[in-house]
Parts: sequence; structure tokens; C-alpha cells
Amino acid sequence: MEFDYIELHYGEIWLRGKNRPAFISMLMRNVKRALDGETYSSVVNTGDRLLVKLSADSSISSILSRLGYVFGISWYAPSALVRSSLASIIKNADLLAGASGISSLKIVAHRSVKNTRFDSKAIVSAFLKNSGKLHFTPDKYASDKLFINVTKIGTLVHINKIKGLGGLPVGVSGKAVVLLSGGIDSPVAAYMAMKRGIDPIYVHMHALQSNEEAKASKIGRLVAILSSYSGSQKVYYVPSHIFQSHVLKAGSRYGRYETIVFKRFLFRLAERIASSEHASSIVTGESIGQVSSQTIENMSASSHSIGTFILRPLISMDKDEIIGIAKRIGTFDTSIIKYRDVCSINAMNPKTKSTPGLIDKIFSAANLEEALDLSMGRASIVSDSQ
Ligand code: ATP
Ligand code: MG
Repeated sequence: MEFDYIELHYGEIWLRGKNRPAFISMLMRNVKRALDGETYSSVVNTGDRLLVKLSADSSISSILSRLGYVFGISWYAPSALVRSSLASIIKNADLLAGASGISSLKIVAHRSVKNTRFDSKAIVSAFLKNSGKLHFTPDKYASDKLFINVTKIGTLVHINKIKGLGGLPVGVSGKAVVLLSGGIDSPVAAYMAMKRGIDPIYVHMHALQSNEEAKASKIGRLVAILSSYSGSQKVYYVPSHIFQSHVLKAGSRYGRYETIVFKRFLFRLAERIASSEHASSIVTGESIGQVSSQTIENMSASSHSIGTFILRPLISMDKDEIIGIAKRIGTFDTSIIKYRDVCSINAMNPKTKSTPGLIDKIFSAANLEEALDLSMGRASIVSDSQ
């Protein structure tokens, strides 16, 4: 039994309202991008689903695995297109069941168009009537299912559904600047933001000798892994030595606040980049109380006066939940590789409570506005992390 299409379904809520056309065209663009390099005939929008039309030399398994990285797909399945007559549906469904080797299938019939002489109940009864002659045993309690969908282009038949990533197509929620560190959390935050339709632009501040060295490090690899979910690979690599030397010059009395000042510096940097990139938000991997820089007081002091909307998708997650996601999405093994990040050279034993006013004061005492200009001048923008 040959498959003609891969059927792609999106969440139904998004079928309603004015978001629908933008949603579907973004999803089509993302599906085509994910299938770049694959052999297939076209991606078709039938109004209630997308269909990837296969060609004779398509690699179905490879296409299926790539579709597993596309946000906005609730489920998908390889399907056969058959004529919308009871005889043709039964004959072809039987072939499909025979080829699958599954002997007990629950039949789920649905008509997306109602212009057939038979209804969905009639499809199920026709199966029950013929069950003795067929490859499979219709069983309403079976966990495997045979889906029969009468549509305007014919009847689509498939066995089971593959769960998609869900969420919204990357791009429908605009662009965001993602503050990407080398740790476990921020790649997961990037993933969660992408899941809600955000197209990421990454910013990484590094303590290495050069931007090239940072790009060749695990940061470049993390971006490459994350890009399987969105295609986005744009990274601003910014050296941290200018920030460090300015803070040092301001004297040691501020040392225990350095982590919070650093966070403010990152936000200011992100804000500038967001403005030039037309990005509407900033994403971080912060979670309440996870480390001393992430107490409510410190998060609020570090982000005080930042005009760009800040998203913290991990805000209420436990570390083990975050680790679980990192493992599932493929970033964990890279995140735990040893790396000389800026925070590890920041002050030990940081203060758990700071105030916006104090961080403002340190910012001007250390002349960090100037450090921002200088750091931006030393940034490298890389659009391809390979
Ligand atoms: P992570 O696991 O993401 O490194 P963390 O638990 O180490 O987070 P912090 O070091 O307080 O926590 O960082 C909090 C957030 O600040 C990070 O999730 C990231 O979004 C941002 N951040 C930290 N360091 C950097 C950096 N060097 N460059 C860019 N963003 C950073
Ligand atoms: Mg970190």
C-alpha cells in the first residue's frame, strides 16, 4: 500500500478568528523549510489541514522525523488518498491494515464534506459487515485506530496519529531576543518561546578570547540544535571584558552585586538589539529562586527600567522539570559540557536582595552606558552557526 500524502493537523482553536490566514501561511513556510532537501511534490492547504504530497522517491521516514520539529502541528500521519465510495474505502483500508500487520483496529470515520450518499456510521457498519473477510478485526476498544476521513479531494485513510510538537508556528508571535548562556535553562527557555510562535535572535556574552572562539564553542552547537525547531540561527556574540573592566574600575565595594549588574547589562544590551532587529520581547531562562540572582528582588532590580517586554518561560519550573525538557529536546548533553561562562567569574556569594536604585547607582558609577556602546562595537553577528 502506497502513501500519497502526509496529513498535518493544527490545533482547532487557531482555525477561528483573524489569526487563521497568518497561522496557516506561517505553518506552510515552516513545513517547507523543515523539509528543505527532502524529495516531495508540494505542500497543499486544503483549508482544514495541510498535506505534504509525496513523490515516488520520497523518504517517508525522514519526512516524518523532520515534521517532528515543526511547532503548530498537533498531529500528523502518512495517508492514502482513495475514491470516496464505500467499496473503494473498504478495499484500500484493508490493504493498509494488511500492510501494517496490526490485526485489531478501531475504526474512526469522519466526513469533512457531507456530499456523499453514505454517512460515517455507514462506513463503520460496512466494515463490521465485511469483517470476516478483512485483514483486521474491528474492535472498538483497540488502542490502534484506522482513521477514515472523507474530504473534498477524496477519502484519506491512515493508521494511528503521530503526536506533533503542538504550540504555534514559529514567527506568528514575532521576533524576540533570547539571552542565551551556556547553561541548561536558557536553551529550554528558547524552546518554550519558540513553542508559542516566537522567532528567536540569540545574544550571548562570553568570557573567551574572541567571538570566533565563542561561536566554535558549545554555544554555536546549542544554536544549531535549537535551529532544528525554527531555522533561526542569528547570534550576537558580545565579549564581556569591557563590562568586567568597567566594573573593576568602579571598586570592590559593589562586588557582591556584580551578578545583578551583569543581568541589567544583559537586558540593556538585549533591549538595544531588540530595537534594531524589530523584536518585541526579550527571553531569559530565569526561574524564581533557583539561584540567588533569581530572587524576586534581584530579578526585579535587574530588569527595572527595561522598556522591552521580558518573557521568562521557566519562571515556575523546577530544575528537574527543566532538565527533563532539555533532555527531550536534545540540548542537555551540550549544556553540561564544561564552559567558562561569564557568571562563573562573577562574584561568589552574591547578595540575595538588591534594589533598582542601587543597581542604577552602580550602573552609572561603573560608566556602564559607555561599556554598552563599546561592547556593541565589538559584537559579531553570525547568521549561520555551522
Ligand atoms: P542558565 O542555565 O540558562 O545558564 P542559570 O541558572 O545559570 O541559567 P543565571 O546565570 O542567573 O542562571 O542566568 C539567568 C539567565 O540570564 C539565563 O537563563 C540567560 O537567559 C541569561 N544569561 C546569563 N548569562 C548569560 C550570558 N553570558 N549571555 C547571555 N545571556 C545570559
Ligand atoms: Mg548560567
